[in-house]
Formats: sequence, C-alpha cells, structure tokens
Amino acid sequence: MYKIPLFDLNFDKEEEKAIIKTLKSKWISTGPKCQEFENLFCSALGIKNALTTSSCTAALHLAMLLLNIKPKDEVIVPSLTFAATVNVVKYVGATPVFADVKNYYDLTIDPVDIEKKITNKTKAIIPMHYAGFPADMDRIMDIAKRYDLKVVEDASHAPLSEYKGKKLGTIGDIGTFSFFSNKNISTGEGGMLVTNQDNYYKYAKLLRSHGMTTMSFDRARGHATKYDITNLGYNYRMDDIRATIGIVQLNKLYADLLKRQMVRKWYIEKLCNIDSIIIPFNKNKGFVSNYIFPVILKDSNEQNRNKVRSQMHNKGIQTSIHYPAVHQFSIYKNEITKLMVTDYVVNNEITLPMYAKLAYKDVCYIAKTLINILNEK
Ligand SMILES: *Cc1c(COP(=O)(O)O)cnc(C)c1O
Repeated sequence: MYKIPLFDLNFDKEEEKAIIKTLKSKWISTGPKCQEFENLFCSALGIKNALTTSSCTAALHLAMLLLNIKPKDEVIVPSLTFAATVNVVKYVGATPVFADVKNYYDLTIDPVDIEKKITNKTKAIIPMHYAGFPADMDRIMDIAKRYDLKVVEDASHAPLSEYKGKKLGTIGDIGTFSFFSNKNISTGEGGMLVTNQDNYYKYAKLLRSHGMTTMSFDRARGHATKYDITNLGYNYRMDDIRATIGIVQLNKLYADLLKRQMVRKWYIEKLCNIDSIIIPFNKNKGFVSNYIFPVILKDSNEQNRNKVRSQMHNKGIQTSIHYPAVHQFSIYKNEITKLMVTDYVVNNEITLPMYAKLAYKDVCYIAKTLINILNEK
C-alpha cells in the first residue's frame, strides 16, 4: 500500500443510498436512470443529445460507425493516448495515421502535423484532450472544414473542461467520455457519446442495442410489443445501476474539479522553479478537469525516469505514466512512424497523484520528495 495513492474515488454515502434505491426499484438494466443521467449530461454540457454506453471504447467505436469510416479510409490520431482511441479505427477496418503532439508544454495533437498527414483517404481526426486540457480545436475544426473531415473528440479526461467558453466534447461532430473507475466520473465501467446532430444520436441508439427498433424498457411499459432488427448492432448499453452512480458523481463533479484546481495550483507553486521539470499546460487559464497531473523530466531518458519513479515509490508515493506510445505497441509497430515530441514524452513523463481529497501537506511531501530525488542526480 502507498502512503499517497495516484488516485482516490470521491465516493461517499450518497452513491450507496442511491444504488440501494435503484436496486429496490427492481429496474436495473438500461432505463429511467440512464435517461436521467443522459439528460443531466446534456444540461451540464449544453449539448442536444447524450447517450450512455458500456464504455468510452464502445462510444468511440459507435462514432466510427456513425461517420461511416470504412476499410481503406484513414483516421488521424495521436499516439500519446490510451490505446482505445486508436484501436477503434481498426475495429472498422480503417487505418490509423499517427500525428505528433505539439510540444512539451502542450501534449495535444499538433494541427501542423495533422495537415501533413492528410491524404485523399483521410476521413476523420480524433483529438484527445490530454489531462482535460483542450486540443487546439479552432485550428482542428478549420482543417476539418477545409479538407471535409469529421472530428471525434476523445474527451475521456475532460468532463466540464472548457475551450474558449465551450465545453469539450461539444465542438466536434461527436464527443466521447469515459466513466471507468479512475476517471473524473467513476461508475466502474461506462461511457457517454454526445452530439448535436439528431441523426447521429438516433443511429447510435439503434446500434447500441443490437440494431433493435425498440428498447426493453419501452416494451416493459407496454409502449411497444414488436421489434425489428434493421442494422447490425451491438450490446453497448449502460445499466441503471451504473447510471445511478453516474448521476451522483456528475452532481458532485463541479465541486470536485474546484478542489483539483487547488491541488494543481499547489503543485505549480512548489515545482515551477525547478529547472529539471517541465509542467505541461502551465499557461492554460481556462476551467479544466485536471484528470491527471503530468510532469516531464528535462535532459532525461527512459532509464532515468524509471529510476525516479521507483525512488518515489520507495517513499510511499504512487505514480504512473500517461502514456506509453501507441505507435510503439506490437500491433502498430509495422507502421514506421517518427514522432519527435511524443517519443521524448513517453520516456520522460511522470504522472503525480491527483484527486480532490489530496491535502496541501501531501502535495508538499510529493514535491519535496521529487525535488530531493532530482537533486541527488
Ligand atoms: C480511459 C480512456 C479511454 C477508454 O475508456 P473506457 O471507458 O475504459 O473504454 C479512451 N481514451 C482515453 C484517452 C482514455 O483515457
């Protein structure tokens, strides 16, 4: 056990009470709680449609299907992301094309590299809002417009994060969110697809549930008895137990993010004058989710980074890496790609603990420990 873990759930009695109520209602599969969660999400983001899914991976896969991405098509993706962002392109038989991130201070996909990677096969771009900080959406949307491409925002890290006053996930054609245990909203497993386009929403809802024309909740209420299968669909539904947790979590999210903002401020106070560390997104003034707190070691290498991490662990501090490069995984390796910034970041980034309950003294301890380790070198 670590003295300070990387992450802590913000669960309390409220989640427990709400779940028991749902269990007692005897409706536990996709039903009124999913609907309520979706409605709340729509108002929180100011978007027309939200659809609960079994995971963000499922939502991203649905996005590829909605946009009619097919074999021989290409989709431009970052490599500095979780593998699911890229895998879903392969689910539909298309080819992911990796673009670099901007620089050590902005770890989101680089519009300049996106434009270099466009071919006549390119159909879409999937920016990922790293740590909850916005990708350069103005330039990405401008490129999309000029080359007639679709944009799917992987907003797994970014619920309520803002870009120039707009909520992330609402700027592209489709946005996706994750409610996996360690995300800002935790339901165990779960995701959400959001879009302002009604036709995408309707098609997503159909594909989420086997391509069936009615849902069992409607049939149970006697609204429908017959159904047809009109498309090859999946079972990508969330259940009402998870939606119940999601509702409580979403209602607590804003307060949670304000505390995370404080934690980030404390970290920056303690670390901003340390020459051997880069704090990405240090200039960002917008409201963001602070899903994680990454730092990058300067003039370092993979071996050195791993040593620093293990010394942190010896002092009882859990850290992580976001992320190993997707383009270096075995299943993608045959696509020889050189990504200058990504290749350095994946070897020298360390993710420090970040969660609302992290106390000032914990941040002081983490910062002091890190500084001492770096000074010993
Ligand atoms: C967590 C995550 C996913 C996958 O989400 P699941 O809900 O676990 O399927 C996709 N992309 C990014 C960037 C993530 O962090």
